[in-house]
Amino acid sequence: MKTAFIGLGVMGYPMAGHLAKAGHEVAVYNRTAAKAQRWADEHRCRAASSIADAVAGAELVALCVGADDDVRQVMQAALPALAAGAIVVDHTTASAKVAREMAEAAAARGCAFLDAPVSGGQAGAENGQLAIMIGGEAAAVEKARPVIGVYAKAIQHMGGPGTGQLTKMVNQICIAGVVQGLAEAQHFAKRAGLDTALVYEAISKGAAQSWQMDNRWKTMAEGKFDFGFAVDWMRKDLGLVLEAARANGARVEVTALVDQFYAEVQSLGGRRWDTSSLAARLERP
Ligand code: NAP
Repeated sequence: MKTAFIGLGVMGYPMAGHLAKAGHEVAVYNRTAAKAQRWADEHRCRAASSIADAVAGAELVALCVGADDDVRQVMQAALPALAAGAIVVDHTTASAKVAREMAEAAAARGCAFLDAPVSGGQAGAENGQLAIMIGGEAAAVEKARPVIGVYAKAIQHMGGPGTGQLTKMVNQICIAGVVQGLAEAQHFAKRAGLDTALVYEAISKGAAQSWQMDNRWKTMAEGKFDFGFAVDWMRKDLGLVLEAARANGARVEVTALVDQFYAEVQSLGGRRWDTSSLAARLERP
């Protein structure tokens, strides 16, 4: 299929690579042009000179940029150049509001816009093992499914525009509570004089097991946070949750508290640290 990919960051770079490796024609655009050129050289595909140039004639356009305003900026440039019937798949974690706005704007041009945030992190993007949650028109989701399936282990259509983003918010609520629980568990274990490695052996096969425990327990215990999903991104995501909760009346008390704990981690110098750095806050002198 003729495709375009906009935003070759930590996530977008390997995701676009999977499209190329699967044999799709991919034109890429990145704000910092050198990155697009490096990607194009590596995958023998085309680095476009502008967003309009990248999307022209593409049947499927994927993007993975930063936040709401970035999606708006990219779409403002892309919309006038989209081919009739094109499907835009937005992998950015953004608000449900921007997803609905963009779906409406795309429909007015005879195109489809799907909000399709991902879970699975950098490793999931590199291994093609992301979980994708999608909001938007069912027919467009089914057309996109085999294409974006090259970097996904699961693709779930949730409903109309915005429901993909709302589902990603649910995902982040789950993570916030679990990571704070793990941080407190380790803190307690250390104060109780237990060997944290043995604690992991004892409890990780039982009801306390989680992805976070399996993948972050050891690094948390060692105080290693210089990798993974950045605290700045997590605060952006929790901000989206809190804003949506204010609108729908949901009570998200622990999430709101953990958001403040992440603000403390930021002030400790941890803006780029992994989300498991909630442990650093408890262990500081
Ligand atoms: P990143 O490494 O910072 O990459 C962001 C990309 O978007 C860069 O290529 C950047 O271009 C481009 N960009 C940002 N604003 C733009 C704008 N206004 N116009 C054009 N291009 C713009 O971020 P990432 O880690 O790949 O994350 C991207 C999205 O995925 C975020 O919404 C994030 O929350 C979400 N996400 C990330 C992870 C993760 O583990 N990293 C996991 C799940 C979801 P430049 O190269 O010029 O800066």
